[in-house]
Amino acid sequence: MSGIKFESYESESHILNPFKGFTEETHIVEVRKDPLLGDKSVYNPALKDKVKFFFAECDAGLIEKLVEDSAKTCIFCGDNLEKNTPQYPQSLVPEGRIRIGEAILFPNLFPVSKYHSVIALSKAHFLKLSEFSPEIIGNGLRAAQQFVNTVYVHDQEAAFVAVNANYLFPAGATLVHPHLQMLITPSAYSYHERLIQACFKYSQENGSEYYPDLIEQERAIGSRYISKTGGWHWMAAFSPMGINEIVAVHESDNDFGKLSNSDLIDLAYGISRVLTLYDRLGHLSFNYSILSAREPADGKGFRCILKMISRQNLYPNYRNDDYFLQKLLQTELIINLPEEIAMITRNYFKEGRNV
Ligand SMILES: [Zn+2]
Repeated sequence: MSGIKFESYESESHILNPFKGFTEETHIVEVRKDPLLGDKSVYNPALKDKVKFFFAECDAGLIEKLVEDSAKTCIFCGDNLEKNTPQYPQSLVPEGRIRIGEAILFPNLFPVSKYHSVIALSKAHFLKLSEFSPEIIGNGLRAAQQFVNTVYVHDQEAAFVAVNANYLFPAGATLVHPHLQMLITPSAYSYHERLIQACFKYSQENGSEYYPDLIEQERAIGSRYISKTGGWHWMAAFSPMGINEIVAVHESDNDFGKLSNSDLIDLAYGISRVLTLYDRLGHLSFNYSILSAREPADGKGFRCILKMISRQNLYPNYRNDDYFLQKLLQTELIINLPEEIAMITRNYFKEGRNV
């Protein structure tokens, strides 16, 4: 039986507003709890009109200059990649690097996990969000999966995969050139581990699996459910951990290494749809992570999951979109309600699909 509860509560805040002659103003703050982890996010409807205060428009001139300047020294552009990026030992990857279409996978020069790969996604040094095609993303995911399965053969301890994207400086990328970073670890990193442990606890307490229950309930409620692409269910997170968070959950598989080619294509298609949404909302910077657990993992009920968020826009002297609330209190601010984001994202999944 499903044990999922979508809990929220409201509190009132009173201030004397100087811009309204110090008359009393009441703010209603809604606090939402993530149904699996209990992590909180907060929503004040008054902030919705202040979205420009939080996210000014991208500065096209600044971006053009940034792209032009960074292209001159980019180690992922053209022949530079061959000369300046590391290779895996032949015993692991005979060619040293994995190439699929324009995607090229190679080791990170400064790994932060047992296996830490970088995947340059395109020949192009810069892509608008609407230019991240399903083919470009899909080839990157296929290169990632090929490496995961190579590592699986060599290393029985390699159990947890996180395929991650940082796009542009507000998202933490040090290079402009579109790329992914993949970590393969013997033990999952913090959030990934919390998800897996919470799924196991949920199964023990409820006698059913968390993600299948979540899919069923979100489909029944409907307001945050967006679309289905193959085995992937796309939803807006009830209590998001980032701005405009969209989640995709695979209905049956928990291991990225075992996903079928059509699973990867369906995932890439959905990512490209969400990036097009972010583009139309005026955003340019984003993060996403695809999390996986190899069998036999202790995470009964865990599924391969994608979490995707937009980040701060690029303009001079921009402020970071993480402040004490997110970094230290681990509480996210909701600017657009998940139910509203789901409503507009559905339109992007309805557009004609050619892949
Ligand atoms: Zn480049």
